Amino acid sequence: MTEKFSRHDLIPGWNQALIQKATVIVAGVGALGNEVCRILATSGVGQLIVCDPDVVELSNLSRCTLFQQADIGVGKTDTIKKALASLAPHTSVDSRVGKFTQTIGLGTIRQAALVISCVDSNSARIQLAGRCNLVRTPYIDGGTNPWGGEVRPFIQHTHACYACANLDKADDDLPASCSPRQPLSPMGASLAITAIIGAWMSTFALRHIQQLEIPDIILRIDGASGVCTPVAQRRNPVCPLHEAIDQEILRVPLTHNTTITELMSYLPDGAIPLLWEPVPVNTDHIFGTNGTGETGSPYSHDMLYNHHHKVLVHEMTLFPPGTRLSQMGIPPGEVIPCRINDQYHYIEIL
Ligand SMILES: [Zn+2]
Repeated sequence: MTEKFSRHDLIPGWNQALIQKATVIVAGVGALGNEVCRILATSGVGQLIVCDPDVVELSNLSRCTLFQQADIGVGKTDTIKKALASLAPHTSVDSRVGKFTQTIGLGTIRQAALVISCVDSNSARIQLAGRCNLVRTPYIDGGTNPWGGEVRPFIQHTHACYACANLDKADDDLPASCSPRQPLSPMGASLAITAIIGAWMSTFALRHIQQLEIPDIILRIDGASGVCTPVAQRRNPVCPLHEAIDQEILRVPLTHNTTITELMSYLPDGAIPLLWEPVPVNTDHIFGTNGTGETGSPYSHDMLYNHHHKVLVHEMTLFPPGTRLSQMGIPPGEVIPCRINDQYHYIEIL
């Protein structure tokens, strides 16, 4: 191990032990996610938690260096885990199949060193920004366009966040990049540009993990002109995503498969557990008409960032008491807000 990383030790400021101890969450393992996972794991990051709802498709193979022909039809996160097992066996990979909000709880996010945002829509980016800010976990977002892209580190939750400049795009669920115009069809993309943007994201990530400074700017990279421009970012005073949980979080030995009744038994009388994202209280929608609970996502597209969590969240007590937390879209390791006499308390599940 020491010999494997011996060239790292010659880099000024490098601290391999900090990299080894770090847990990094990678949200989305398409093209950019592949590059970031490959670089971070090869660099010795101790644990990666990767999430993505999709399976590998043939069109991914021109840009995703961890995917192979035989992986077509297999889940992207499981494929990443398998590929890294041989490429970087010292890195533990936790594969979560699904979207960021539905697979990785706030408790998991707050314990991570960093979140890397490789998601493909503005709404997903803004959701990610909101959840990271709630627990003060830094995140680095990236996006590509046909001949360039942007790298956007967001380290301080009180500074500008991704949503500050993109609130008007909150409902835009089209695949998005930093290109000013949103295309109606997939945008051209190549591994060369993906690798450039992914390498910049990874450079910032590795520096942050090692407690080295990274610039508080957006980096705009133009592969056609060869110009790399730092762009100042400003916090938007009306951006609602900068409030963090400022209280102690009580950890309880319950999982996301717990029922509301079991959860309530851990809460004081009068406490009302709440959902971060509003879910329509429609039992057909949540449980399906066959009662199996196997129907589609209970999430609406009314998202956290549109609704201040102290005003518009829905009360879990409106659901049948036997409802499992997972059926309401709550991921493992989630921090659940509870209202008690207009005061808010927070509990974290396993
Ligand atoms: Zn903001």
